[in-house]
Amino acid sequence: MTPKVLVLGAGFGGLELTTILSDEFGDDLDLTLIDRSDHFVFGYSKLDVMFGRETPAAVRLSYSNIVKSGVWVRRETITSIDPVARRVTTDAATYEGDILVVALGADYDVAATPGLAEAGNEFYSVAGAERVREVLPAFSKGHAIIGVTSTPFKCPPAPSECALLLHDYLTERGVRDACEISLVMPFGVPVPPSPAASKALLAAFAERDITFVPDRLVRSLDPARKVAVLADGSEMEFDLFLGIPTHRVPAVVEQSGLAEGGWIPVDPTNLKTKFPGVYAVGDVNSVGTPKAGVFAEGAARVAAASIIAELHSTEAPPPYTGEGACYVEFGADRIGRVDVNFLSGLSPTGSFVDPSAALAGEKVEFGASRRRRWFGLS
Ligand SMILES: Cc1cc2nc3c(=O)[nH]c(=O)nc-3n(C[C@H](O)[C@H](O)[C@H](O)COP(=O)(O)OP(=O)(O)OC[C@H]3O[C@@H](n4cnc5c(N)ncnc54)[C@H](O)[C@@H]3O)c2cc1C
Repeated sequence: MTPKVLVLGAGFGGLELTTILSDEFGDDLDLTLIDRSDHFVFGYSKLDVMFGRETPAAVRLSYSNIVKSGVWVRRETITSIDPVARRVTTDAATYEGDILVVALGADYDVAATPGLAEAGNEFYSVAGAERVREVLPAFSKGHAIIGVTSTPFKCPPAPSECALLLHDYLTERGVRDACEISLVMPFGVPVPPSPAASKALLAAFAERDITFVPDRLVRSLDPARKVAVLADGSEMEFDLFLGIPTHRVPAVVEQSGLAEGGWIPVDPTNLKTKFPGVYAVGDVNSVGTPKAGVFAEGAARVAAASIIAELHSTEAPPPYTGEGACYVEFGADRIGRVDVNFLSGLSPTGSFVDPSAALAGEKVEFGASRRRRWFGLS
């Protein structure tokens, strides 16, 4: 019998896992990859869209490009997951698998921050980034706040990148002197696991007159007074609010009983959940790495290796070490890189490579290599 694998979610994790399993088994595996969308967008492309560096159409990678042996791509919305029976229901069909991989990412709960929808803008979804793209040209003077509303949140350097790119954007328009930029973050420094990256970011903020407000979350916005209320009760007036919304597991995961304390617990060595044959990779789990594509991808590689070992009845692969390299946009077409390892047993300390144009090229190649591997695009 050909083993059946169900992969839920075609993001960083689902795409990487599907590619590895197809390369390994080809038609000897029956893999169904399900996503409600018809395309993938890299997380960092949202910054490109909001600042007008790319059009929304240019950053969409259509799933119709995926042609891989043994792989069936279904554009359907998953409506229930039974992790005991490994049965998945969508708006179109019901599937059962010998192995189930949950890679459904994190959803956003904008309503969890009172006033955010009315008085602010989130830029973490593609739709949100597209709206900000329309709003930004009208912002020519006043106070812009980039604010985190809860933890955990995706790509911890992204709010800092947003502040630096906003500086460039306003400078290019000749209005920077009429604007203030503040960044409200729940950490003492911009990227806690990397003191060197944090130091470089704080220096970049100081050079550009960006105010870093550490150890605070934005709890609500008051639309009438245009004021952001922080967790300690203090208030900041704003003319433009760019928010990082509350993150949650998708509702279908919540209802499945897979999540505990908000996210899906997994064995950190192999990404297995407590349900036999069920894995959870990427932002949807609570493995202890940041919510970022590179970690979702790394986890998918380990889960795929574990599935391969299981199906070939060979020895289990080495444990997941939670390592990843995050590119950090410093503006002015320069990019830095943090290399960090979260699960090796030591406290995570990221080494930092200074921003350069060469690393900007490396990031372009990072995206291009995924387009080739996952989508067969040149
Ligand atoms: C502004 C910004 C910048 C970022 N920059 C970076 C960066 O530079 N580097 C980096 O590594 N990461 C970055 N990230 C984070 C990165 O995008 C995510 O961490 C990553 O996409 C997580 O991968 P995943 O596979 O877990 O989930 P996702 O990529 O989110 O994929 C989940 C998939 O599940 C699908 N889905 C959800 N619910 C359902 C359902 N009910 N039915 C069917 N399908 C469903 C979704 O459509 C989606 O395609 C950034 C994120 C943002 C917002």
